Amino acid sequence: MFGWKGQILRVNLTCGKISKEPLDPVEAKNFIGARGLGTWLYMKEVSPKVEPISAENNLVFVTGPLTGTMATSGGRYNVVTKSPLTGTIAASNSGGHFGPELKFAGYDAIIFEGVAKKPVYLWINDREVELRSAEHLWGKNVPPTTDALKAETSEEAKVACIGPAGENLVKMSSIMNDYNRAAGRTGVGAVMGFKKLKAIVAKGTSGVQVAQPAEFWKTITDARQKLIAHPVTGHFRNKGCFACSIGCGRISKVPGGRYKSFGEGPEYESTWVHGASTGVADLEPIIKSNCLCYEFGMDRGGCHVRGYTISPEILGIPEKLDPNTTEGKAQWVKLFQDLTAAVDSAGLCLFTTFAIGADEIAAQLRTATGIDYTVEEVLKAGERIWNLERNYNLNNDFSKADDTLPPRLLKETMKIGPNKGQVVLLDEMLPEYYKLRGWDAEGRPTKAKLEELNL
Ligand code: SF4
Repeated sequence: MFGWKGQILRVNLTCGKISKEPLDPVEAKNFIGARGLGTWLYMKEVSPKVEPISAENNLVFVTGPLTGTMATSGGRYNVVTKSPLTGTIAASNSGGHFGPELKFAGYDAIIFEGVAKKPVYLWINDREVELRSAEHLWGKNVPPTTDALKAETSEEAKVACIGPAGENLVKMSSIMNDYNRAAGRTGVGAVMGFKKLKAIVAKGTSGVQVAQPAEFWKTITDARQKLIAHPVTGHFRNKGCFACSIGCGRISKVPGGRYKSFGEGPEYESTWVHGASTGVADLEPIIKSNCLCYEFGMDRGGCHVRGYTISPEILGIPEKLDPNTTEGKAQWVKLFQDLTAAVDSAGLCLFTTFAIGADEIAAQLRTATGIDYTVEEVLKAGERIWNLERNYNLNNDFSKADDTLPPRLLKETMKIGPNKGQVVLLDEMLPEYYKLRGWDAEGRPTKAKLEELNL
């Protein structure tokens, strides 16, 4: 296979058995990778009624076909499981260098089953894969865990691990890779902690083969030029994930005093969570608490990027949309949701979509995999993934009643500013959205829609 490595690793933590399985090319094509493929692999084997913190719940680490290629910002992987925080399907996305390294070692995904008796870590050294004791690491924060694992395996290895938050089943715990990158949302770290899986350490030596190298190079060069020229994605150039020209990471340092700290961030979410929402106006304690979250392996925010219509409403990307109207909103939401699902599944960073769209993503997928992905097929794959996730949640007793917002946004009018007197008119938009999706009035995908999507 091109793009994909064609191999899945299965690890049963209860009995310690490790096996390798071929990746089904049809499943790979239909669900692309990462978020989509991981959700499919998970759902095939785990009941929607499973308790998230139980031996029956699986944990899937999964990359995309563009992960580890030189595609623009193509360093992402996803962790898929049932969320202990929300009870819904979880696909938590992270960047850094861990996802590419997993592919260099030869694997598209790892499926973890069961629970280990004592803390362990998985050491993947190309074809050699073994479970090792992690008893000496249990209780340690993320940086010393990462340091110790690199020292006892290889300095070139990439580490994804949990900190004390995951070990103690904190429902907002992250899986941290490369010290500061987080598969943060939905509490996936607690599932890993329950499994007594402290870390995965990967080191690989094989690259990712693409189907049409010259054409692929041209598509990624075009995309990179657009990213560099764009006002949103072109001005960072700080610390970056694998193959990223954007480089949105930043390092903060408080040199001394009570809040002495050094680390990555804080980003928008962590500044808001540790600052405005707690009434803290001083940046130093915000930096310190953000660093502690990284060290403990704890999440700091909510997900606002599944259908980021802020982009057209505020930034006018790809075109200006009036934030004060409901007209056409449902269509934009559907488009952004489907495109986001496809981008997440390809292994790209969503940040790229400020500057590139479905055209460029389809071209990268086409030239990398050799499969004739068109723009329509990329969006259709995104729609398939969205419906797959929707069905899982409906089968797990979620319903139309959960398609809502906090009462404050629906009932309490804005007091000041250009939106004074407004609330979110969700009831106006939801029926239109269901209709566009091909769902019934209760928000359930119809049989015809599921058949159309081959689900
Ligand atoms: S834009 Fe930021 S988060 Fe995305 S891949 Fe680049 S450095 Fe990582």
